Amino acid sequence: MNTTFIPVSQPSITEEDIALVADAVRSGWVSSLGEYITRFEEEFARFCGSSYALTVSNGTAALHLALAALDTGPGDEVIVPDFTFVATANAVTYTGAQPVFVDIDAETLCIDPASMERAITKRTKAVIAVHLYGHPAAMDDILSVAREKNLHVIEDAAEAHGARINGKRVGSLGTFGTFSFYGNKIITTGEGGMLTTDCPRLYGRAKELRDHAMSPDKRYWHTCVGYNYRMTNIQAALGVAQLSRIEQVLFRRSQIFSRYRERLSGLSPLTINRTAPWAENSYWAVNIENLLWDEPERNAVMARLKERGVDSRPYFYPVSDMPPYRHIVCDTPVAHRISPCGITLPSFSAMTDDQIDAVCTALRDSIAREETSAYEHRNQLPEYGSGLCWRS
Ligand SMILES: *Cc1c(COP(=O)(O)O)cnc(C)c1O
Repeated sequence: MNTTFIPVSQPSITEEDIALVADAVRSGWVSSLGEYITRFEEEFARFCGSSYALTVSNGTAALHLALAALDTGPGDEVIVPDFTFVATANAVTYTGAQPVFVDIDAETLCIDPASMERAITKRTKAVIAVHLYGHPAAMDDILSVAREKNLHVIEDAAEAHGARINGKRVGSLGTFGTFSFYGNKIITTGEGGMLTTDCPRLYGRAKELRDHAMSPDKRYWHTCVGYNYRMTNIQAALGVAQLSRIEQVLFRRSQIFSRYRERLSGLSPLTINRTAPWAENSYWAVNIENLLWDEPERNAVMARLKERGVDSRPYFYPVSDMPPYRHIVCDTPVAHRISPCGITLPSFSAMTDDQIDAVCTALRDSIAREETSAYEHRNQLPEYGSGLCWRS
């Protein structure tokens, strides 16, 4: 029996990773020029099926740079899902534009295309579709609305490297894709991010803005106020090493999810991540949800897990509930109903089967049995008890 604490996330770092990082340091190319930067960008673009990839300092910078390259500014509105990590909304705020919060789909937990369509106004500049917890957003519907209304779609793929829709990787579908390589993401560079696009003009603009908007033809001539959003060659060396193993990492993540699903079956009304038939999940987070929980009940389960040596995370709070965004009016009932009912369980590629089993045992112990049987006598149970069914 494993008695050590099981974290929610933990990076997987190999000796090969360390060797490439050491090589970058020894080469003297420690800042943002160097062969690993070029390699990481080329190999990541190929991985996504995008024409261009641009390394940046983190995923939030990637979002900000995408919006800046589209000339987003005061007077513009950018549609974002109310259920996401706060960075999605903050990047909009940095530009002076207004985030407009819309609801999510209860199954994918990603932006609901119908809510998005209803929120479009004359001021709407772009939509940020977040591929939340590794599940791709409904890009077919989102892109068809966006095309009709002449809007740009930015894919926030910070949690979804490698996820696919109809065989196409996320990050290659919208005007821009943005990725994060923070320590808990699918692959890591410590801190770091990537911007992907197929448009040569927008790629050039983003690249200029990343480096203080320095003119490509005239050194130290700056065309506007840009940013220093560069990644270091040291980080890129770790990125190259991590990217070379990403298929194994994604495969292991899907195995981890399958084992959880099997071990947690029969815990109705508890459900685990659902994946739409058109989607391939990258399983960044294994989530359990019980729509009969309120926030204190959910938090009590997390506290009992912690006593049993298992760390966990609550679902994100609706962004529109938090102090910087409370003044923005929105109608997001699904985000509000689901947010207090979810827990992210330990999910990282280096997890062992024994650790998964230990988490499942701890979870079963943490859910009061009387509670469970009381639910079983109620009639309004969600019907997807075994986990993976897809409600249509
Ligand atoms: C992690 C994350 C970001 C931000 O990435 P950083 O590299 O931490 O700046 C943005 N959006 C989502 C959905 C994320 O999970």
